[in-house]
Amino acid sequence: MAAVAGPTRLFIGGEFVDAADGGTIPVTSPHDGGRLAEVAEAREADVDRAVAAARSAFPSWSATPAAERGRLLLKLADAVEERAAELARLESADTGHPIRDSTRLDVPRTAATFRYFGGMADKLEGSVVPVEKGFLNYVVREPLGVVGQIVPWNFPLMFCSWKMGPALAAGNTVVLKPAELTPLTSLRMAELMAETGFPPGVVNIVPGYGHLAGAALAAHPDVQKVSFTGSTEVGRRIVEASAGNLKRLQLELGGKGANIVFADADVAKAVNGSAFAIFHNQGQACIAGSRLILEEPIAEEFCERFLELARSIRLGDPLDEATEMGPLTSPEHRDRVLAYVKVARDEGGEVLCGGRAPDDPALARGCYVEPTVVRADPAARVNREEVFGPFVTVTTFSGEDQALELANSVDYGLGGGLWTRDLSRAHRVARAIRSGMVWVNSYKRVSPGSPFGGVGDSGYGREMGFEAMHGYTDPKSVWVNVDADLPVWYPR
Ligand code: NAD
Repeated sequence: MAAVAGPTRLFIGGEFVDAADGGTIPVTSPHDGGRLAEVAEAREADVDRAVAAARSAFPSWSATPAAERGRLLLKLADAVEERAAELARLESADTGHPIRDSTRLDVPRTAATFRYFGGMADKLEGSVVPVEKGFLNYVVREPLGVVGQIVPWNFPLMFCSWKMGPALAAGNTVVLKPAELTPLTSLRMAELMAETGFPPGVVNIVPGYGHLAGAALAAHPDVQKVSFTGSTEVGRRIVEASAGNLKRLQLELGGKGANIVFADADVAKAVNGSAFAIFHNQGQACIAGSRLILEEPIAEEFCERFLELARSIRLGDPLDEATEMGPLTSPEHRDRVLAYVKVARDEGGEVLCGGRAPDDPALARGCYVEPTVVRADPAARVNREEVFGPFVTVTTFSGEDQALELANSVDYGLGGGLWTRDLSRAHRVARAIRSGMVWVNSYKRVSPGSPFGGVGDSGYGREMGFEAMHGYTDPKSVWVNVDADLPVWYPR
């Protein structure tokens, strides 16, 4: 794949600039390993510069009328839609997302999220608390200051909107560090934001490696909050780094989604939805339904149909409209996913399909892995650890209690799903699954208004909706003595 157009330098204080030490990161195509771009690499000195720019922009941005902040976000949503085709291509080239997904999901969701928070900017109300006579007590919500946002490589464009939308609407300024593998669309977003009229310093984008730029941002004393999406392992490091200035944190970490299919489910729909749950974006989704838990009477029929579908998925160039599954985002990650096939076999697992790179010579230089289905013991590593690829395990159960025991047997708790025609069971099981999100007769639905996040090893805090806006503000309680005669201490 040839080099792509778009900004490649750090975005700090409203300008594209080189890294202080002139360093760069090569960005390569996951489809064929070709060089897409050479992007400036931020290190500690650059992060310092970006935080200083965000800090100096904060007083004016936080004092900007909320409706005006909202207007800019609404304008940005329009700009994303106007450049939909270009953004989708850039995202697909950089990440390997099939273009049909980037076009139909990533770009519209990015615009929708900016629009949602644009509309919400002037609806973040305070409250009046009923307190004792003689006092008025009211609560206003105030932005935090500079927020650091660290994102992974699986949905880089969409995460720009999930992270920046609520933070900016609430009046904070932002330093966002995209993943080193996929910085291209966030830099293009910076350019669009400058064109839209966001003042210099309000948004700063600093591509760089996690242990350098990420660590500097996570520990920075002038950053008031870090919103992190990534692995549980790095999430723990972010917690440690936050101790210095007691930063607030929002942690969106890994997942190991249980996808329970009851015997009374509409099997055709469950097969289709379960394939989307795991194979969309090559399974590189924290909310992927990576554990299929099938009720015994339909397990065989379900498996046959699911395997047939998995084998029919069209792998190919992410920029080809016919492609249903693209490459994984990096060679290292492809190797990691394939290594889990050996882990599964070593623990007695049976590979029912896939488990290898495709034979097609046209894909030989890319990071492709065939859709992989593995029958494995519930206690096996592949049933407990996040593989983060097109890799799904199958186990069977008998009765609701066992289904829940299996579903809740992992340390993660992000997303989960169930398929049934029994309405009472649907609600009962949805409540009993230990996770931040549950889908009934569907999987992986997200909306800017619906809280997104997990429990346990999947982290804490929520993106989306008022939850997110509240997370980017602190409540301030103001007490006013409205009774001139009221003694404030012992009478004198
Ligand atoms: P990762 O944790 O390795 O990296 C995520 C981000 O953190 C990257 O920008 C990286 O450069 C940075 N980073 C790495 N080390 C750092 C450090 N020491 N200090 C600060 N920043 C550091 O994760 P990944 O491999 O890029 O992404 C995959 C993971 O992300 C999976 O575990 C997946 O489940 C998770 N994820 C979670 C959600 C969610 O919303 N819960 C969404 C998408 C992905």
